[in-house]
Amino acid sequence: MNLVFLGPPGAGKGTVAQKIADHYDIPHISTGDLFRGEIKAQSSLGKKVESILKSGELVPDDLTIDLVKNRLVKDDARNGFIMDGFPRTTAQADKLLEITSIDYVINFIIPDESVIERLSGRRTCKNCGNMHHIQFMPPLKEGICDVCKGELLTRDDDRPEAISNRLQVYKNQTQPLIAYFQDKNLIKDIDAEPAPETVLERVKQVLEA
Ligand code: AMP
Repeated sequence: MNLVFLGPPGAGKGTVAQKIADHYDIPHISTGDLFRGEIKAQSSLGKKVESILKSGELVPDDLTIDLVKNRLVKDDARNGFIMDGFPRTTAQADKLLEITSIDYVINFIIPDESVIERLSGRRTCKNCGNMHHIQFMPPLKEGICDVCKGELLTRDDDRPEAISNRLQVYKNQTQPLIAYFQDKNLIKDIDAEPAPETVLERVKQVLEA
């Protein structure tokens, strides 16, 4: 099953994608995670994109498309994948459909106020990338990741200035993809406001219908 998860930052795509990926035994491919991995490794790509991620702007299409192409040729993606955070522009979407087919695009719908509330309270583990939320998913011990006991930090792009920029970037560059995929009859809308377990069940229902 080849899936795309579309929606603004903070819509819960990553959390649900990981669970769906485990359920169907397909990889969860998050371009944001791949870029953060490159930055952590201080690779040449990582050095190029570090300031872009901090600001909440998009990495140029050619770099992003290369990253995805290199990921999709790996063995584990042969039976399907979930793309989380890609495509984010029409050029990326054109390219994706050129290199592979897509079964469904799950469109996570959530109002701006909820995005702001979710992102500003989000704390990410410095070690393993696991996410908590100070209000909705607090760690057992303040500032410490439940999974690996690593330190929980606020991502640079979860700071208020970057959040509003990311929302704007989403509206200008990514939201037009809803109509793009609607035209191709691939969109399935999901209300992303409820708790992640509820959203997960709804996504499963759509995929199993
Ligand atoms: P995310 O974790 O999906 O919110 O992505 C974090 C950041 O990585 C974004 O704000 C962009 O700077 C960059 N990024 C991730 N995916 C893409 C993409 N498909 N195109 C361009 N930039 C991306």
